[in-house]
Amino acid sequence: ESQLNPNYSFDNFLEGDSNRLGRSAGLAVANKPGGTSFNPLLVFGGVGLGKTHLAHAIGVDIKDKYPEKTVLYISAEKFTQQYIDAVKKNNRNDFIHFYQIIDVLIIDDVQFLSGKSGTQDVFFHIFNHLHQNGKQVVLTSDKAPVDMQDIEQRLLSRFKWGLSAELQTPDFETRVSILKNKLYRDGVEMPEDIIDYVAKNIKSNVRELEGAIISLIAQSSFNKKEITIDLARVVVEKFVKNTKREVSIDYIQKVVSDYFQMDIDTLQSKTRKRHIVQARQLAMFFAKKFTKASLASIGSQIGKRDHATVLHACKTVDNLSSTDKQFRKYVEDISKKLSV
Ligand code: ADP
Ligand code: MG
Repeated sequence: ESQLNPNYSFDNFLEGDSNRLGRSAGLAVANKPGGTSFNPLLVFGGVGLGKTHLAHAIGVDIKDKYPEKTVLYISAEKFTQQYIDAVKKNNRNDFIHFYQIIDVLIIDDVQFLSGKSGTQDVFFHIFNHLHQNGKQVVLTSDKAPVDMQDIEQRLLSRFKWGLSAELQTPDFETRVSILKNKLYRDGVEMPEDIIDYVAKNIKSNVRELEGAIISLIAQSSFNKKEITIDLARVVVEKFVKNTKREVSIDYIQKVVSDYFQMDIDTLQSKTRKRHIVQARQLAMFFAKKFTKASLASIGSQIGKRDHATVLHACKTVDNLSSTDKQFRKYVEDISKKLSV
């Protein structure tokens, strides 16, 4: 079982400046798996920009051209789970062997391996074996190798052996073509000005772009309303409100300190009082979660701490929210306040 999704093809992966490098490299790899210098091919970029789609398209195209090759698509998360199960059942060698005889290995969202040293170790050995034997490896990640955290250096350096191609946010023209293509495939007609309106207003994520159109079609058919600009405005507004707003680190500190009824100076202070430390750690955790700021920049904005302190804070919050009910409630409450 290749786990490939035939709906994700090159044909319906529309090309634009934002993805040309990744798409072309993907095609080159599909034409000559293991036979280009793009090995591994690492595709990286933000949420909803087409990494998973492109990863499948490469696999599907290879299967088409080389039916005898074994191609496997797997998420890094599932790979990790399989590995843990294999270790439990004393099947570690079978696991390794299974992956070493694959011709094309596609692993999605490798950032998931961060901090998982056992899985990284086994992947390192599998990778080396495949690479030495001229087999193709395709990886996707939500960040560039240089920005990946808690991934072993030797693995990171392998990631950089081939080509890293970024998927960027598509420009307006590309967004329009993606929408038109989707409507065409779904057999839905939509006025040009509405398509333009949606494409103009939803910019940073193709999944949301498609989601808005789907929602628009549903609204119009369930409520028996015509698709008008006014309806489009309502639908788009909902999407933009729910997902696009970027919160600032200042705002997060304000929400967290209000929640614990302390002022921001207290939250940032050097004190080791437990409830203040926890409030500060929560602010760091949410800054990591809701902003694009680096650990170092979060640290410097929340009481002049260094990046290691922020990293530690994020881990502490993760741990506490899975072991401490009261603490989990803090996380949930603050999450809600930050997302309305
Ligand atoms: P990611 O894995 O980067 O989060 P996905 O691959 O899941 O993103 O893409 C999100 C949605 O956007 C999918 O439905 C995908 O088909 C669509 N999509 C992304 N980029 C393109 C593109 N260039 N052309 C057509 N559809 C695209
Ligand atoms: Mg994905």
